[in-house]
Amino acid sequence: MTIVIKIGGAEGNEAGPVLADLARRTDYVLVHGGSGEIDRLSGSMGRPSKYYTSPSGVVSRHTDSEHMDVVVLAMAGRIQTELVRALGALGVRAVGLSGADGGLLIARKKEASRAIEDGRVVRVKDDRSGVVEEVRADLLRVLLGAGYVPVVGPPAISRTGELLNVDADRVAAQVAVALGAETLLLLTNVGGVLRDRHDPESRFDSVSRDAVDSMMPYAEGRMRKKILAAKEAAAGGVGRIVIASSTVPEPVEHALAGHGTVIE
Ligand code: ADP
Repeated sequence: MTIVIKIGGAEGNEAGPVLADLARRTDYVLVHGGSGEIDRLSGSMGRPSKYYTSPSGVVSRHTDSEHMDVVVLAMAGRIQTELVRALGALGVRAVGLSGADGGLLIARKKEASRAIEDGRVVRVKDDRSGVVEEVRADLLRVLLGAGYVPVVGPPAISRTGELLNVDADRVAAQVAVALGAETLLLLTNVGGVLRDRHDPESRFDSVSRDAVDSMMPYAEGRMRKKILAAKEAAAGGVGRIVIASSTVPEPVEHALAGHGTVIE
């Protein structure tokens, strides 16, 4: 039973307990984001991250050509190497792959992204961000079949060979769909989708696959991306999607036991 686990990159996420939990399993793919690390690195390089809000209210990173360097350094450099190292120390034969490796994540450039600026809709210029259109699942299967654990993260690659930044939650969804995974876990720094962001008790516990959109009005910022990812995974046939906490003891087992927002 293949599972795909996406680990968050924002402040508050702890990789250690997730990795310790994973070390007891086989047959999984780990997908990582890295927004926190990108922001830290870009700050220390004197090139602060830029974000924009789309007319529908989704916040996205503005990856111009200069910022793409930072994305690659943070994602494929620091975060992925550290995850592979830490899994290796736990006895797991992990292999880090960006979307460019073996053409793993093929993306289409987002055409004409639009942003709200001072109440007006404007076009976002020089945005090297994309949407994953194809996952070369055969590469993942070869690795899994040989006992390796793929650790996958942005950027993706376009058909013309351009690096494109992609959302890691949606990458995880597409990887799960491409592998025909049974379960997708989106682990983050909160316990699930909350009706009231400040009240952990207000979580959506169980949502049917046709009702995923009903959570959208409650979500802001990047939680909206997770809901979108869950919707894409459900539409692509993933049996069960859990948005759950990475900060509890044994986070993977906790999420698999259904503690979180479960979509099935
Ligand atoms: P990660 O890096 O773990 O993927 P993100 O920062 O991208 O996490 O997304 C999780 C964040 O989404 C939460 O920390 C919270 O601040 C925010 N959020 C917005 N709306 C909601 C909601 N309705 N329920 C839970 N979290 C929400």
